Amino acid sequence: MNTISSGDKVTSSICFKLSEEQEMIRQMTAEFADNEIKPFVAEWDREDHVPMEVLNKMYDLGLTNIGVPAEYGGLGLDNLTRYTVADELAQRDAGIATTIVASSLLATDPIMVAANHEQKKWWFGRMMEGAMCAFCLTEPEAGSDALGLSTRCIKDGNDWIISGTKQFITNGGFAKQFTVFATMDKSLGNKGICAFMVDRDFPGVKIGKKEDKLGIRTSSTTEVIFDDVRVPGWMCLGGEGQGTPILMETLDYSRTAIAAMATGISTGALNAAIEYANERRQFGKPISSFQAIQFMLADMAATTEASRLMYQKAAWLQDNNLPFKLASNMAKMYAADAAMKNAIDAVQIFGGYGYVKEYPVEKFMRDAKIMQIFEGTVQVQRMVIGKYLTKDGKFNYVY
Ligand SMILES: Cc1cc2nc3c(=O)[nH]c(=O)nc-3n(C[C@H](O)[C@H](O)[C@H](O)COP(=O)(O)OP(=O)(O)OC[C@H]3O[C@@H](n4cnc5c(N)ncnc54)[C@H](O)[C@@H]3O)c2cc1C
Repeated sequence: MNTISSGDKVTSSICFKLSEEQEMIRQMTAEFADNEIKPFVAEWDREDHVPMEVLNKMYDLGLTNIGVPAEYGGLGLDNLTRYTVADELAQRDAGIATTIVASSLLATDPIMVAANHEQKKWWFGRMMEGAMCAFCLTEPEAGSDALGLSTRCIKDGNDWIISGTKQFITNGGFAKQFTVFATMDKSLGNKGICAFMVDRDFPGVKIGKKEDKLGIRTSSTTEVIFDDVRVPGWMCLGGEGQGTPILMETLDYSRTAIAAMATGISTGALNAAIEYANERRQFGKPISSFQAIQFMLADMAATTEASRLMYQKAAWLQDNNLPFKLASNMAKMYAADAAMKNAIDAVQIFGGYGYVKEYPVEKFMRDAKIMQIFEGTVQVQRMVIGKYLTKDGKFNYVY
């Protein structure tokens, strides 16, 4: 707790320090990532390798299950701690951070938002045994217009039959369980959408094309095809036609997680740039002594700091049950744009060495780009923010 020193009676409730437990988990994640990820990540990136062996070690530490509540056997972390884990991982590798976020947060948030006890027991029970998860929303013809999806769900007795193709699904290659959004009838619009839990082993679930990506190459991205998959009625989340509010709330949470990963990329790129600028000499001096370089580093530091404060504020609102939609969308938009610029500036500071794979910054640049695209593009965040502001008629800052 910080205190404003101008008067004894004035105290601030804003806290810029992680709690002892949060700091312990942050340090544990950083140490693990420094030892088990950072030294190998360039090779995995080159080979397009998803390091399952590392994910298994992360499972042993509880890091693959940061979304599991304590009552279902998990660590029961608050949102701020979960996002801090994503930030620390992305400082070393945004691909592995994406794998964890997609499984434990994005795919699992619909369960947190809408599942009943029986559904939670099934989903979290399997996660605690090592199952990874994937979130299936995007389709070839439905990206930014996510609610225009075509995957059908048709009631058949007590069951549902799901058919359709989902595209760009993170963890699609190995996830054991999916959250899936489908429509009962496109003419019903938003009211026709249902959300389901689906077991990878259900007949008709098929894994399609694996994507060969620009960045986050340590994560798996595939098509997932549902070919008349029969899903028991109890696996429908929130009831018939309740998919849209579940989806909207899920995306509001998970955008904070992307902001945290983007902040991790900015931090990683900045630290690499500072180290290099101090070592690299031109005109008889370290390039860090040139004002042009110092100005770039200063801008990078300020936007990295702002990104972190923005996702932490969104997390704080979530953890205190306060409205967080605006804060989360602003954090994702700002941090993603900042990460892209900071990674480009890091490459500039490295000069020609920034452009070759021997040094780490070109990977930060490739990884940063996806932060502006997934979980809604930064244009979509601007649409959400603009709509929210004009509907309210003013900027309602939430304290
Ligand atoms: C590596 C990777 C991992 C992913 N992981 C997942 C996952 O796990 N699960 C999942 O469901 N999806 C996932 N996605 C999908 C991702 O969320 C979508 O790619 C994203 O929402 C954008 O959709 P789109 O690619 O169809 O682009 P489009 O919607 O076709 O957009 C193309 C361009 O048009 C712009 N645009 C579109 N509509 C508007 C508008 N109204 N106003 C202004 N500009 C607009 C966009 O901002 C963008 O610049 C992933 C994608 C990638 C590449």
